Amino acid sequence: MPHPKKKTTKAARNQRRSHHALKAINLATCESCGKPVKSHHACTICGHYKRKEVINVAKKLPKKEQQKIEKKKAKEANKELKKVKKETTKLKKTESKKEDIKEGMKSVVRGDK
Ligand SMILES: [Zn+2]
Repeated sequence: MPHPKKKTTKAARNQRRSHHALKAINLATCESCGKPVKSHHACTICGHYKRKEVINVAKKLPKKEQQKIEKKKAKEANKELKKVKKETTKLKKTESKKEDIKEGMKSVVRGDK
């Protein structure tokens, strides 16, 4: 068995070990959920990377949790659909009003009553 030639002094040993301390990891924040994430890594909580879903986190959860998440997603989709529908109806109403006004102007020009 090889042996060290001389005893390493406490000072030499401690000087060597002075570089062994662990450094804190540099964490970034997730753009979609705001939780701390390793930079250049997908978020382990929501599975997003650069605002795109890369990992389906729900798949790794138990079935009940998966169902909850699916329900939430469905609710959000429904909300967005309702918003879009509202906006389209508003637009239609304003357009119909504009057409009514145009027709009224035409009738005035024609001299109808
Ligand atoms: Zn996230």
